[in-house]
Amino acid sequence: MNINSLKTRVLLWFGGVVTIILLLFSISFEYFMNQSINNNIKAHLNNDAIEILTDFQESATPPPDYELYAKEMIVFKNKKLLYKSTTLDIQKIYQLIDNQTQFKIYEDSEDDDIISAVYILEQNGFTVVVYKTDIDNKIDNFEDILLFLDPILLSLLLFTTSKLIDKILAPIKRITKTAKNISVDNFTNTIKLPKKDDEIKELVDAFNMMVLRLKDGVENLDRFNNDVSHELKTPLTVIQGEVEITLRKLRDPKEYQQSLKIIGYEANQIQSIVENLLLLTRYTPQNIKDSFELSQIDSILLDVLDRFREPISSKNLSLKIINIENVSTFVNPRLIYSIFFNLIDNGVKYTPDNKNIFISLYEKNKQLYFEIKDEGIGIEKTDILKITDRFYRVDESRNKEIKGFGLGLSIVKNSVELHNGSLTINSEINIGTDVLVRIPFFTKTTCT
Ligand code: ADP
Repeated sequence: MNINSLKTRVLLWFGGVVTIILLLFSISFEYFMNQSINNNIKAHLNNDAIEILTDFQESATPPPDYELYAKEMIVFKNKKLLYKSTTLDIQKIYQLIDNQTQFKIYEDSEDDDIISAVYILEQNGFTVVVYKTDIDNKIDNFEDILLFLDPILLSLLLFTTSKLIDKILAPIKRITKTAKNISVDNFTNTIKLPKKDDEIKELVDAFNMMVLRLKDGVENLDRFNNDVSHELKTPLTVIQGEVEITLRKLRDPKEYQQSLKIIGYEANQIQSIVENLLLLTRYTPQNIKDSFELSQIDSILLDVLDRFREPISSKNLSLKIINIENVSTFVNPRLIYSIFFNLIDNGVKYTPDNKNIFISLYEKNKQLYFEIKDEGIGIEKTDILKITDRFYRVDESRNKEIKGFGLGLSIVKNSVELHNGSLTINSEINIGTDVLVRIPFFTKTTCT
């Protein structure tokens, strides 16, 4: 038996508490029984004594057998109480009534409650009445019964409690067994839900949900690892191939320059993927607030727009600034920069030449809003939910000319959520896409 097991501890506690309760119950029950029996006896004793006395005075004949229930000696003189004792003391009676007194003993063996009844007849103005019963024996018997019953009751209670605990712990043991079998490679086990709608069912349900969430998490991680490896492999293969070909023979400086250009471009791609991945994992809901600082949001947006001046003009896009309000609040400026950068980058990438892009930044009800609307290729309704997943790109054939890793929107979503904000995307194929970012204002107190 494991002393630390829940079952042992419950049994020990329960056994201890029940023993104390049983003892207290037995002691108090015996005490009150005793009291009540003695009071009862006293009442009978007085009544019977008076009755017998009256009988003695009315007739000279000995009294009939009275049914008596006491163990007490009472001596009356001229109908007045002279002496009272709980023990049968024949010597005392002699003292009180003088030695010549005649007395007669009536024994009553028919009634089990009475061993004997002794009446001492009236003599020289004394009347003595003595009663005796085996009431002490009765109480002793009662004690014996309690002493015998208490351990049986306790054992019965402990036995049923132990069975009950086994029943309660059975699903928990099943959970433990299943949990031991769960590993990164094996998420197939879930626990069968109990029929009864109780706390155990809730626990099993929560456990099964946790297993499913872990399964999703591990699958996501696997997919993510595959995607990262795949994305990094492409530029690395290009670099490797380029180096091999270039080194096969001696080349003129122009050819080396061309090769280095290709290698540099692919190295930039790798750097960009790594930077984006770091941005996705560096901040967590727990540490993000430490990086918050009072930032001029409109200045960050203008900086980003400045970087897109060249691609916007080369595609002859018309950038329509509807509104850029002067807004400052506590944010992580690096993440806000990446929100603006990725959304404008997408707007520019996925909008055909000569079309419009509309931008606005404003404050409403202590919240920051950024909206970007383009007249681009649009996104299918079924894809809208998936485009914020890491490395998800809509049907590559539709936009195979357009470069990207499928990380931009997941960075945007992650950054918005780290600021407790929301991201809404509406889109129609060949009409355009409308993205709205909402971020609540943080004060210094909500920051720290
Ligand atoms: P990337 O642009 O690098 O592929 P994103 O995560 O930014 O990755 O976007 C995921 C996908 O969502 C893109 O591949 C594209 O198909 C689609 N998408 C995002 N923004 C737009 C947009 N403004 N218009 C049309 N499609 C878009």
